[in-house]
Amino acid sequence: MQFETLSIHDGQTPDPHTGSVTVPVFQTSTFEREDLYQRREFFYSRIGNPTRQALESTLALLEKGKFGLAFASGAAATMAALQVLRPGDHIVSGLDIYGGTYRIFEQLLRPWGVTVSYAENEDTESYVRCIRPETRLIWLESPSNPLLRLSDIRELALIARERDILVAVDNTFASPYFQRPLELGADIVVHSTTKYLGGHSDVIGGAVVLNDETLHKTIKNYQAAAGAIPGPWDCWLIMRGLKTLKIRMKEHEANALHLAKLLERHPAIERVWYPGLPSHPQHELARRQMSGFSGMLTIALKGGLPAVERLVAGLSLFALADSLGGVESLVASPAKMTLGALSAEERRKRGCSDNLVRMSIGLEHAGDLEADLLAALSDLPQAGTLAPSGA
Ligand SMILES: *Cc1c(COP(=O)(O)O)cnc(C)c1O
Repeated sequence: MQFETLSIHDGQTPDPHTGSVTVPVFQTSTFEREDLYQRREFFYSRIGNPTRQALESTLALLEKGKFGLAFASGAAATMAALQVLRPGDHIVSGLDIYGGTYRIFEQLLRPWGVTVSYAENEDTESYVRCIRPETRLIWLESPSNPLLRLSDIRELALIARERDILVAVDNTFASPYFQRPLELGADIVVHSTTKYLGGHSDVIGGAVVLNDETLHKTIKNYQAAAGAIPGPWDCWLIMRGLKTLKIRMKEHEANALHLAKLLERHPAIERVWYPGLPSHPQHELARRQMSGFSGMLTIALKGGLPAVERLVAGLSLFALADSLGGVESLVASPAKMTLGALSAEERRKRGCSDNLVRMSIGLEHAGDLEADLLAALSDLPQAGTLAPSGA
C-alpha cells in the first residue's frame, strides 16, 4: 500500500466493539484484570495504552520500520534513543543540530560518562575523522537546524556498519513522507512529532522508530521504566495529523519552493538556504536521498540584526515563534531564539550569524505569503524593488 493509504488505515482499524472509524481515546490509567493470575494485553497505561499503540504502529509503518515508540516530546524521544549507550561510549554528531539535542549531549550525557565529538554535517570524511575505538553511535540531523545542511545517510550508514557503530537520524525536518532513513541503512529514527507529524501546532510529542529487536527492547523498557509517555489525547491528535501528512508535506514544499526562488532574487537578502534550490550546495544529495525538500527555509539578510528586527516586526501572516511544521507560517531568529542559549563563539562555529531568519512555510496561499514577505522586506534599507511573481 502507498504512503497516504497507510497513514489513514494502518494501525487504525475500526474499533471492534463499536465500529468507530477513528481509534477511540482510551482515557484510562488502568485496565481491569481477568483474575489474580491473568492480566489482559493492556494493564497500566504507562506500560501500554491502545490509543498509543495505534499511533506507534502507524509511525512504524510510515518510516518503514518494524517498531514504533511514542514519547511525551521530541526531547524525550532523543533521550530514549540514547539509552542504547553506556558510560564510556562515544558519539559522533553533526555540529549543526537542534539546540535541545546539543543540550542533552553536553548537560545530561557528559556527566554520565558519554562523550561527544562534532563533525561538519555535510562532510562524511569529517565524521570518519571523529570516530574512536569507543564510538558507538553516529547522530545525524538531515536537513539540519537552522542551516538545512545535509548528511549522506547511506554513505555514513555503510561506514558505521563496517565498524559496528549505530546510526540514529533525527528526521523531524524531512518527515517520513520525504525521507526514510531506515531504508537508507540507519538503525534508529527519531522525531519531534510536535512538528510536521502532528502538523497543527497543538501538541508536543516525539517518536523513535527502528527495526532491530534488541535495540527495540532496550528503548521500550526505558519507555516503560522512565515513563516519558504521551497521554492518549496527544496520541490521538498526532494520529489525526498523520492522516493528512502527504497532502500537507506536498503543499508545504510547493509554498517553500515558490518563496525560496522569489527570495533568492531579493536585493535585501544575502543568501537563501533551501535544499530544493539548485544553488543549495547539496542539492544533488537532496535529490538522491529525499523525495522532496520539505517546508523549511533559512535566509540571511544584508542588514544584520537590525534588518531581522525590522522584518519580523513588519510581517503579519508569519508569527514570530519557536517551533515549525504547523499549518501556519512561522519565523524565528536562530541567534536570538532557537540557539540563543549558546555562546556567541558556539554560534559562530555553526555558521549561525545574527542576520539569519528561519522560516517554517505553512499552508496559507503562496500569493498571500509572498505579499506579506515582500511588504515587510520593502521596509528594509537594502530593499530596492522586486516585482511580485503573480502567484
Ligand atoms: C523540536 C525539535 C526537537 C525536540 O522536540 P520537542 O518536541 O520540542 O521536544 C528535536 N529535534 C528537532 C530537529 C526539532 O525540531
